[in-house]
Amino acid sequence: TYVVTEACIKCKYMDCVEVCPVDCFYEGENMLVIHPDECIDCGVCEPECPPEAILPDSDPEADKWLELNKDYSEQWPNIIAKGEAPTDAD
Ligand code: SF4
Repeated sequence: TYVVTEACIKCKYMDCVEVCPVDCFYEGENMLVIHPDECIDCGVCEPECPPEAILPDSDPEADKWLELNKDYSEQWPNIIAKGEAPTDAD
């Protein structure tokens, strides 16, 4: 899985959310997180993150953020589901 880390805090970019093929980004208290059970490890989001907050869980820096990503994913809404519904219906 990929993990969102400290540099995401207060970041306003949503580029990662837009490229994720499985919509596994969730809102957190003050940052976005990735649901570790839903991420398919494609890596597409990593280069799209302007502050370089997204790391693979193999990165030593990611380790201490993994549990937070999991907790927030379970407690906060999915960022896509919560956002405005797609309006391609009309
Ligand atoms: Fe989504 Fe792929 Fe990033 Fe996982 S690695 S959060 S599946 S874009």
